Amino acid sequence: AKEDGRGTYRFFETGMDARAQARRLLELDLRAALQRGEFEVYYQPIRDVAKDVVVAFEALVRWNHSLRGMISPVNFIPLAEETGLIVPLGDWVLRQACMDAAGWSQDVGVAVNLSPVQFKNLNLVASVKDALSASGLPAHRLELEITESVLLQNTEATLSVLHELRGFGVKISLDDFGTGYSSLSYLRSFPFDKIKIDRSFVSELATREDSMAIVRAVTGLGKSLGIVTTAEGVETDAQFDLLRQEGCTQAQGYLFSRPRPAADVENMLIQPRQR
Ligand code: C2E
Ligand code: CA
Ligand code: CA
Ligand code: CA
Repeated sequence: AKEDGRGTYRFFETGMDARAQARRLLELDLRAALQRGEFEVYYQPIRDVAKDVVVAFEALVRWNHSLRGMISPVNFIPLAEETGLIVPLGDWVLRQACMDAAGWSQDVGVAVNLSPVQFKNLNLVASVKDALSASGLPAHRLELEITESVLLQNTEATLSVLHELRGFGVKISLDDFGTGYSSLSYLRSFPFDKIKIDRSFVSELATREDSMAIVRAVTGLGKSLGIVTTAEGVETDAQFDLLRQEGCTQAQGYLFSRPRPAADVENMLIQPRQR
């Protein structure tokens, strides 16, 4: 805290204290929530564009807080990452998602988000193997979504973990594609199975020519590299029609369904797309 010359020193300091305290409370709350079982995995369908059927579900964690209700992951994942709590939490999500998917009536995939922090944990490969064997889910039905920030850290070790995972059949997706600094070079560093085109490009697809050009380039890239492309955040028929026209492989977004509790998966599997 610094004196700004107008005597606000104390206010600033008090503000910092309050913020640090709120953070500390949230951290304690997060720890207790894991023990109390307050987390829940929601699922959002991912559709094959050409076949017009559901081919996978993305697992998205929710915190069903006893007092504050449903809390979005954007409000607790960053703190879970800073405190290392993302390791047990991410492990729980992975196990739960594999368990749920093993019970579905169709052999569709399940996509689980992995935090860069989980890659610093030496047990990641063992955790994935455990989640698969405990659930009986075949490895090829599990997709792990990573962002390019994962590839920024400790590259050699990270690449060897990714190769090991892919070696026993797990699929690896590059999430939020296009939002980082050097997305293209990452495609050369690892043989990704899937590229997820970030929602920021998809949302402007019908209204901005440069977004359209970027989506066209990425789907073309996917085609020539033999990588599946998934558009995230598809909200309108106009966006979906353009994606289909460009040959994007898969689409996911509110147009089809919001993320829903596990109990709704079977309904999402049989529901045709609403127009
Ligand atoms: P993400 O991996 O990019 O997930 C997609 C987010 O976009 C989800 O938000 C989803 O609900 C939202 N979304 C999907 N379709 C649409 C759409 O048509 N329009 C709009 N406006 N949004 C859409 P959610 O569930 O709030 O998750 C936010 C982020 O939190 C995720 O972004 C991911 O980075 C992180 N996250 C969620 N679950 C986990 C988890 O289990 N582990 C880790 N490490 N991160 C997670
Ligand atoms: Ca994701
Ligand atoms: Ca994403
Ligand atoms: Ca995102």
